[in-house]
Amino acid sequence: MTVPESHPRHRSLLIRERLVAGVKAGITSQEGLIAHGRGEAFDYLLGERTINSAIHASRAAVATMLAAKRPVLSVNGNVAALVPDEIIELSRVVGAQIEINLFHRTENRVHAIVDHLRAHGAPASEILGEQPDAALPLDHARSRVCAAGIHAADAVLVPLEDGDRCQALARMGKSVIAIDLNPLSRTAEAATITIVDNVVRAIPNMIRLARQMEGLPEDRLSEIARRHDNNRALQDAIREIVSQ
Ligand code: ATP
Repeated sequence: MTVPESHPRHRSLLIRERLVAGVKAGITSQEGLIAHGRGEAFDYLLGERTINSAIHASRAAVATMLAAKRPVLSVNGNVAALVPDEIIELSRVVGAQIEINLFHRTENRVHAIVDHLRAHGAPASEILGEQPDAALPLDHARSRVCAAGIHAADAVLVPLEDGDRCQALARMGKSVIAIDLNPLSRTAEAATITIVDNVVRAIPNMIRLARQMEGLPEDRLSEIARRHDNNRALQDAIREIVSQ
């Protein structure tokens, strides 16, 4: 189907099409479509725009990634379908590894995502997740991680996360950066920094900010990260939704 540009929901429909193509290509799970629906509803309430507090959160998130010794970007089927080029670019500008981590894990889907990211320019050797050799304290498939990746990371970006894993990562002492359109989710509350925005806007914003901030000294980066107040940012997002 071709969505006419004049359609008021043009952008949102294109994003849906990308996810449906992701399901057909074996990258995105069917459950991922449902998760997207929840996100879409919150995006509608936010006016499908990036709010100021999300820009502040993105800045703190980029500072955290740039100051980290072992930053990792965790990628699932929705992220791979929606922002493959941007995730690869972000990994380059903040010097982070990419690790595939799926809630509805099948080996075929992990391989399909690796192939997809390779087709978008990521060197295969840089993508972790095909051979998980460590575990997080969780009782589902997302517990399976790489010892040299998420398990050892000091900062992890977890777009579209489930609350359980986010809490487990935070309890392990890692800085956890979530991108979640729902400011009320357990993920949003458990993360160190939550960017309440759509991944299709948040990741490009993070790339832009990383290019601006990459020369900053480490103590300045740490200060920007430390000054961020996650609770305040979530309250601000809720206020934005209510005042729409
Ligand atoms: P939690 O366990 O944190 O309460 P949940 O069970 O509500 O999470 P899931 O179904 O695990 O949610 O994951 C979907 C989450 O991802 C939702 O909170 C939704 O708002 C968010 N989401 C979906 N699509 C996007 C998107 N494109 N950009 C940002 N967030 C999104």
